[in-house]
Amino acid sequence: MRLAIYPGSFDPFTNGHLDIAKRSIHLFDHVIIAVLHNRAKKPLFSVEERVAMIKEIFSGDNRFSVETFSGLLVDFVREKKAQAIIRGLRAVSDFEFEIQVASMNAHLCPEAETVFLMASEDNLFVSSSIIKEIALLGGDISDKVPPVVWRELCRKRNT
Ligand code: ADP
Repeated sequence: MRLAIYPGSFDPFTNGHLDIAKRSIHLFDHVIIAVLHNRAKKPLFSVEERVAMIKEIFSGDNRFSVETFSGLLVDFVREKKAQAIIRGLRAVSDFEFEIQVASMNAHLCPEAETVFLMASEDNLFVSSSIIKEIALLGGDISDKVPPVVWRELCRKRNT
């Protein structure tokens, strides 16, 4: 079975993430969406909230599963015996950082390949941080996130 890990903070999961996940499943039999547990970052949504939202997005599609990890990604990749790591690339600005991470991961875990998918035109400028900023300021970006995420962003805004 061809298994890939799609890691990220997903705070929150956007249509850009959804697009990458849906396209990656054409290349792999199963994709684990792995939510990073990073204590250093101050997220808007807790890991539990993020996992619950992503599970709702993919409910009924058993080609995807949602898990959390902390520490080194390559340790998680080895534990799962995955063959690949999926990453999305938006602009040249993503490339610099992503190539550093991918080359370090290749060094630490040569058995796993990092597969980059280009962001689709509609999602080139979608990032979790801009989504949070606009939503919390009252802007309507409901067409850039899955419905469950929009619902939860509205809930955060009203509390
Ligand atoms: P990070 O892992 O840096 O915290 P994110 O959780 O925001 O980043 O995103 C996880 C992965 O999805 C990264 O590879 C990122 O480049 C990619 N990604 C984020 N937004 C988009 C988008 N709009 N289109 C395509 N890929 C994206």
